[in-house]
Amino acid sequence: MTTSEQLFEKAKTLIPGGVNSPVRAFRAVGGNPLFIKSAKGPYLFDEDGNRYIELINSWGPMILGHAFEPVEEAVREAIQHSFSFGAPTRKEVEMAELIIEMVPSVEKVRMVNSGTEATMAALRLARGYTGRDKMIKFEGCYHGHGDSFLIAAGSGVITMGTPDSPGVTRATALDTLTAPFNDLQAVERLIDANANQIAAVILEPVVGNMGCVLPEPGFLQGLRDLCDKNAILLIFDEVMTGFRLAKGGAQERFGIRPDLTTMGKIIGGGMPVGAYGGRREIMDMVSPSGPVYQAGTLSGNPIAMSAGLAMLRYLNEHPEVYTQLETTGSRLIDGFRTSLTKLGLDFTINHLGSMYTLFMTERPVSNFVDAKTCDLPLFGRYFQAMLKRGIYLAPSQFESLFLSTALTGEHIDQIIWANEEALKEVI
Ligand SMILES: *Cc1c(COP(=O)(O)O)cnc(C)c1O
Repeated sequence: MTTSEQLFEKAKTLIPGGVNSPVRAFRAVGGNPLFIKSAKGPYLFDEDGNRYIELINSWGPMILGHAFEPVEEAVREAIQHSFSFGAPTRKEVEMAELIIEMVPSVEKVRMVNSGTEATMAALRLARGYTGRDKMIKFEGCYHGHGDSFLIAAGSGVITMGTPDSPGVTRATALDTLTAPFNDLQAVERLIDANANQIAAVILEPVVGNMGCVLPEPGFLQGLRDLCDKNAILLIFDEVMTGFRLAKGGAQERFGIRPDLTTMGKIIGGGMPVGAYGGRREIMDMVSPSGPVYQAGTLSGNPIAMSAGLAMLRYLNEHPEVYTQLETTGSRLIDGFRTSLTKLGLDFTINHLGSMYTLFMTERPVSNFVDAKTCDLPLFGRYFQAMLKRGIYLAPSQFESLFLSTALTGEHIDQIIWANEEALKEVI
């Protein structure tokens, strides 16, 4: 038994499923999860003495590679002054100022401790601001594990959602309406059928959580227009795309201004951080300036703020990071496409900047129904074949991969080679 296997056996007796977040258990790809001991730059090292080039990067935060020096340095400096005060600090002011400078639509911002907290708070705020209860989300978009967001589609778009998880009440599900991603007409029908009842439309402007799915031309603008026409708040969940697709996130890249934005992942530089922000008049509804309650003992934690600030400052001051990520992404995807052609395979690759997914289906993927046509057992074999060749992918077909600036041309060549060999092995 490897050390990872031993640890997993023990973990299963102590922690539900042996993990603290479900996808880590490798259920979707088979085999045992690797227990990670350390990471540096583009590499992960497991408890068994193996090294992997990794394409998860903590699900996004490690956009500059692991243990990035300026972030490490900032944390080392911060821990000398105690770890938490539960009182305001200078760093929170600096953090808010920087986020507002970087993210086009954000005029005021509140720090929280995770993406889940950010979306829950943003939804409560949208309800408080509009005085309406219902919300529209898209099938396959993930917004953390708040009750309201754990709702799958009903069979028809006008039907009410049913909970995805036991423990989410039917009453909660009644307020969550779902539409297929990229389907403006479905959204319009929901709005018409629920006139003056919808507080917000929330989406990942570029989806990462059903695999990488791009908005079709006009989709985001169409949502903006529908929301304006019906006094509905548009919420961009930029927990994945924020500070990644551009320094101002997807909203900068696509030139659309949401009313509220939720952030996470990169914003903490690897520490547990989230944030929500947006138009001043909406954010001023948040307690204590307004009546919508939201609080957090560890919110704005000084160590977390130090890591996040160092990360965001670096990104803000080094626009070449984004040029490099674009080049790395294009080079990788070109290589994948060449391999697919060579092997006579017609799989779909969705790609934008430093996000991509290779879908094991020949169908174009523009929503969750498309994504579900993938050959999942084949993906499981492909995942293991990549792992065997030293490449650590997200252990599910329905995830985006994330590139970092720590990847050099040599790493990219190695990934392209591994991908081609892995596909040859499993097809
Ligand atoms: C990861 C993620 C969340 C949840 O963030 P946590 O920090 O895991 O709670 C919410 N929305 C999106 C788009 C995410 O990718």
